This record gives sequence, structure tokens and C-alpha cells, in this order.
Amino acid sequence: MSMFTAVEMAPRDPILGLNEQYAADSNPNKVNLGVGVYYDDNGKLPLLACVKAAEEDMMKTPTARGYLPIDGIVAYDNAVKGLVFGADSEPVRSGRVATIQAIGGTGGLKVGADFLKKLSPNAKVLISDPSWENHRALFTNAGFVVDSYPYYDAAKRGVNFDGMLAALNAAPAGTIVVLHACCHNPTGYDITAAQWDQVIAAVKAKNLTPFLDMAYQGFGHGIAEDGAVVGKFVDAGLSFFVSTSFSKSFSLYGERVGALSVLCESKEEAARVLSQLKIAIRTNYSNPPIHGGAVVAAVLNDPARRAVWEKELAEMRVRIKAMRQKLVDGLQAAGVKQDMSFITTQIGMFSYSGLTKDQMVRLRNEFGVYGTDTGRMCVAALNSKNIDYVCQSIAKVI
Ligand code: PMP
Repeated sequence: MSMFTAVEMAPRDPILGLNEQYAADSNPNKVNLGVGVYYDDNGKLPLLACVKAAEEDMMKTPTARGYLPIDGIVAYDNAVKGLVFGADSEPVRSGRVATIQAIGGTGGLKVGADFLKKLSPNAKVLISDPSWENHRALFTNAGFVVDSYPYYDAAKRGVNFDGMLAALNAAPAGTIVVLHACCHNPTGYDITAAQWDQVIAAVKAKNLTPFLDMAYQGFGHGIAEDGAVVGKFVDAGLSFFVSTSFSKSFSLYGERVGALSVLCESKEEAARVLSQLKIAIRTNYSNPPIHGGAVVAAVLNDPARRAVWEKELAEMRVRIKAMRQKLVDGLQAAGVKQDMSFITTQIGMFSYSGLTKDQMVRLRNEFGVYGTDTGRMCVAALNSKNIDYVCQSIAKVI
């Protein structure tokens, strides 16, 4: 008998499963809208010019690769603090932000989760319903009981904000609340600035622990605009967690570049928190890899390169928005009678299209258009060549 006889086959990752099915599909018109990746108008994964330039510079003076410090490249961590809180902001100037370089946004969430498990072992975690698939699994795996707060309102095609607020108000003190800072994945619906104020008031009144997941800063309305929610939490005098991902905003998915920042009450407290974050890192993977962090630091800390990045990021943002409008117009032109203009009120990479599971399965099987069964489509994978086909295919299943 093998020692692995009792090992069960884990369920397939639903998105990776879609990718496999897509790869095997012989339909020449097939379109993959299941992914969480930005493609340019030629359907290609972009290599940003700012990244290429930084890498070319690095190649001119090749260096040996020692271990990084446990919390990563100092210049990188400082750049993250500047981006998330503002370089001249009070939290950064006073040194009360503890930031670590993480292995992607996922790594930032995991390091935060491990630290929180030690700090508040009995706390519950609340995530949005629905949320990025990995939130539940990641916090469960860190040892937490994970519940959800209402978020998507299918009938309204928007956020069930009253439900969300009621759930926060009913949560016991110390509950960890995972909030999408911008560009909600999977729905594409964000709450308004005024609603954020209400969320923050509830978090403060009920003594909840906010954990902002910022995987798309700059993909929604702009770098500062998308980061504004962080300023609101700062202004409210709260301590909180922010995970950052550069996977999308730098198109550096495979380099695994992210961060975790924890806003503390004082510089001295931040030093203690940082020491514990380092324990979480040390016992998981010891220290982060160099390349992605070095590239991002080289871009963010150089004004000319940073300007190029901001321009390239804006181009991605604008292209996604243009695709939303084209989708709405194209669906109407293809004969869809129902009002699909909600697609342009959504923001970021994704659209909850409102299509049913049956419609999504038909789209896949009959037309080779791949989205998730929940109706989520990646608008950032649409382009001027596939948009008409996608609109016509959707029109046939609606
Ligand atoms: N949070 C959310 C909401 C995401 O959508 C993603 C990426 N799909 C992540 C975190 C993880 O980002 P990364 O790929 O950098 O680990």
C-alpha cells in the first residue's frame, strides 16, 4: 500500500480548468475572457516599456545575487509606501507604516493572514460575497473561520450596500474585514466615496480590523484616485492592513511582485509589527526574490521612468474603458434588447455580465467564448478584433 493511498484528488482550479478547455478548443474564433490578465489590442500580454528599459539598464551591470533582507529591497518597500500612502503623507513621514516586499499580492495577503492568526487567533474573517476565489481559501488555510458579507445585488446590478453595512455592524469586535480597495474582483462594482465613509464609520465603531486588498491600483480611475480610500482610513485614525500587487499594473504577473503594508499607531509599534511580519516570512519562504522588486523599484524611484509607467498604465486603463463602451454598443447593434449600459458603470478588469450559468456554458460550447460560470468576463481581454464576434455570440445566447 502506498503512503499516498488516502490522498484525494483536489478539485481543479475553476479558472485554470477553463484555460485548459480553451487551449484544447479548435474553434478558430475562440476568445478567452476567463483569465484575470490584461492583453493589449493585439491580444498580447504587454511588456511595458518602463520595465524593458529598467531591465536593459540592469543587464548593463550584471550583479551577483545574494539573499535579500527578509522584508525585501528597502528602496522597493519605500516606493510602495509612497504609492499606497503618499510619499509626503503623515504616516510615511512619521515612520508608522511597516511594509514588506511580498511574493505577489497573494503573498502580501498570506503574510498578513499569518501575522493576524498569531495576533488574534479567534477572530473571524469576513470577505465580500462574491470575492476573489482565493480570499476564502487563503484565510481558511491560515487557520481562520471565513464568512462573507453581502456585496453583489444581481437584481439591482450593483452593490447591496445596505446588506454590506448591516453585516459589518453586526460583526463582533476584532473581526477581520477584507475589502477590495478598488476594481472589485469579480463583479466590477465598487462602492462610492460616500459609502466608503459609512464603511469606515462602521469599522471604527465596531472595532473591526480592516484588510484592504489593492490588487488593481491605477486600473480603475487613476493611481491617486484608486488609492484615495487608503487616505480615508488614515484620516479616520485607524490601524489597518493593505496588500499591494504589481502583477497587473506592471504586467509582471510571473515575477510575483507585491507587498504588505501595516499602518500602526507609532514608529515604535511599526518596528514591533515589522519584526513579526519578518517571522511570518522567514518561516514561509525566508526572503523574497530580487528581480521583480528591483525592476519595480527602478521604475517607481526614477521620475522619468515613472512618468513612462504612469502613461502606460493610463493607456491600459483607457483601453479597458473603451472596450466596455464597445461591448455595450456592440451588444445593442447585435440586437440585444435589454439595457447593458451597466457594463460601463463597472470598473477594472472584470464585468459581471449578468449572464446565467447556462448562457455561459452555451457561449463556451457553441461559440468558443470563455468566461466563468458566474458570468464574469475579463473586459481587458477584449480587443478590436474579437469584440464583434463576442457581441454577436452573446446576443445569440441572451
Ligand atoms: N487580490 C485580488 C482581488 C486579485 O484579483 C488578485 C489577482 N488576481 C490578487 C489579490 C493576487 O495578486 P497576485 O497575482 O499579485 O498574487
